[in-house]
Amino acid sequence: MAREVPIEKLRNIGIVAHIDAGKTTTTERILYYTGKTYKIGEVHEGAATMDWMPQEKERGITITAATTACYWTRNGERYQINIIDTPGHVDFSVEVVRSMKVLDGIVFIFSAVEGVQPQSEANWRWADRFKVPRIAFINKMDRLGADFYRVFNEIEEKLTIKPVAIQIPLGAEEQFEGVIDLIEMKAIRWLEETLGAKYEVVDIPAEYQEKTQEWREKMIETIVETDDELMEKYLEGQEISVEELRKALRKATIERKLVPVLCGSAFKNKGVQPLLDAVIDYLPSPLDLPPVKGINPKTGEEEIRKPLDEEPFCAYAFKVMSDPYAGQLTYIRVFSGTLKASSYVYNATKDEKQRAGRLLLMHANSREEIQQVSAGEICAVVGLDAATGDTLCDEKHPIILEKLEFPDPVISMAIEPKTKKDQEKLSQVLNKFMKEDPTFKATTDPETGQILIHGMGELHLEIMVDRMKREYGIEVNVGKPQVAYKETIKKKAIGEGKFIKQTGGRGQYGHAIVEIEPLPRGKGFEFIDDIHGGVIPKEFIPSVEKGIKEAMQNGILAGYPVVDVRVRLFDGSYHEVDSSDIAFQVAGALAFKDAAKKAEPVLLEPIMEVEVETPEEYVGDVIGDLNSRRGKIMGMENKGNITVIKAHVPLAEMFGYATTLRSLTQGRGTFIMRFSHYDEVPQQIAEKIIGERMAGKSS
Ligand code: GDP
Repeated sequence: MAREVPIEKLRNIGIVAHIDAGKTTTTERILYYTGKTYKIGEVHEGAATMDWMPQEKERGITITAATTACYWTRNGERYQINIIDTPGHVDFSVEVVRSMKVLDGIVFIFSAVEGVQPQSEANWRWADRFKVPRIAFINKMDRLGADFYRVFNEIEEKLTIKPVAIQIPLGAEEQFEGVIDLIEMKAIRWLEETLGAKYEVVDIPAEYQEKTQEWREKMIETIVETDDELMEKYLEGQEISVEELRKALRKATIERKLVPVLCGSAFKNKGVQPLLDAVIDYLPSPLDLPPVKGINPKTGEEEIRKPLDEEPFCAYAFKVMSDPYAGQLTYIRVFSGTLKASSYVYNATKDEKQRAGRLLLMHANSREEIQQVSAGEICAVVGLDAATGDTLCDEKHPIILEKLEFPDPVISMAIEPKTKKDQEKLSQVLNKFMKEDPTFKATTDPETGQILIHGMGELHLEIMVDRMKREYGIEVNVGKPQVAYKETIKKKAIGEGKFIKQTGGRGQYGHAIVEIEPLPRGKGFEFIDDIHGGVIPKEFIPSVEKGIKEAMQNGILAGYPVVDVRVRLFDGSYHEVDSSDIAFQVAGALAFKDAAKKAEPVLLEPIMEVEVETPEEYVGDVIGDLNSRRGKIMGMENKGNITVIKAHVPLAEMFGYATTLRSLTQGRGTFIMRFSHYDEVPQQIAEKIIGERMAGKSS
């Protein structure tokens, strides 16, 4: 079966921006100009096409990674662009990471007024990590204070990869009319500001000649630096053609040596068509990128898959969603081979054969059933029982693509259905959510029987609770958000555990002696079997380890999980008849607890990296407030009259910060926050937390 669009004419892209920079608006305009959406919903009306989960409309942020296919004609050839929707809010950075794995290029949107904001920097770093080529679009050129050149310099100073302007703006602020194309040396002027407005391609106006020459020269120098042949030509004073420039720039963009920079105003419908041209001209097709790597689960050897239909099938499930009509939808990106509708695939991650039902190509406002999906393409599969991050492949050629590591949740909250009859439905829904989102967890408190949900931030959990209500009609009462504390130890200690019962019937006998010592932060748990001469028989050593691991679930200070500990089992004893698995588990647990008490146990708390942007006049108040929250100021930076404050602040002190910041800055300050690391809780505060926790337990 032939492909609809050949692979070299395919672009899998993401659009990434700081909140409010215009990602939704730009995406909307792209969908309009590519002819798939005929009615545009402005963001403030809550009707944007991509943001179709109800609470996203209310909050005006994007939290799901749906994908939308659209088509663009360039030089008479038809191209397919798959837009993978990446979320803007940092609580969901895991969604960003997930989409990075399946997209081939990114359009980074910056605001011509606010410039390079913290969120963009963070996402830029992710793009570096996943080696994604990108182009930059400086949006909002029509706004008061818009300055293309300032933002260009900021990109150059703050971000990796050298930017190269291939356009400069024609006017700015209210007078923003269009762009000057530095490659073709012409001006594009939009005649109106309405959707689908006509534009004219004209000669560069006289008053722009000088500036255009200056920036064209700069552009050419930057491009030829990446290409020896062109450099020679340039030095010899020869003219470099449009095709040569484009070809070299395409190569340099794909190799991540350069980032082409464009500008416009999505809102006023200016600059979107040239942006689409640039996506085609400079961002890679799946063929332009190195083959993917994975591990053969049978042999443990590394394998690669080229983006060819002849290769064995292999795809990555990057998003799982429940759909009211189709049931579970699994979004997959095919890296090699092909998959037909209604066929079996091998889920290598789960080691089971699964059935793929219908295959859907998702457009902005319709879904199209397709019979086959091929290398490089993206589609949604109906009826597959996969989870996010699973690799699907040909059973005869098993492969597991690199697994993503997701951070542990740092916050939790008790929930309880408002009506008893929702209890069962709730647990099904929670299971669904866990499958969709690896940073979301639900557990039951063994002591109280309460249901706890765990996530990456307050907003994350709020949205989950909101979804329970909206999508499944389950209303829940929620408790106060709780910080996920942990425990660890500060020094080496030895502990002994004996479990002996020898009265009546069959006895029990387990005896273990361990040494524990601190590991560096984030190292988790290490177990060393240092038993010699069979003082504990081999078969009981895993029992001791199991007992220790269990004891570590509930630390001795306040019952929080214990982390970053190495345990060396080096002595013990056994009984010919009475020793058993259980007896050694108990002995292990007792030995661990005994040692932990002597090893100076301490409480750890999640520390967040917080970046606040505020107008200068509020800096003093903002810093004072951060200090009162036990924050450590890590750095400060001025951007015009805006100051960016970076700080490390314990999560426990950040509840309700959005409200405080709003009142401190008259609503003008913004902040983002992400998990950074765990750190020791100061003694006095630790005592209070432990006291409260213990009181809670005994009540
Ligand atoms: P997102 O959060 O990045 O998705 O940003 P949105 O697309 O939701 O845009 C945020 C706000 O900025 C909305 O009110 C838009 O109407 C507005 N906006 C987006 N692009 C432009 C632009 O080019 N010019 C102006 N003046 N406003 C814009």
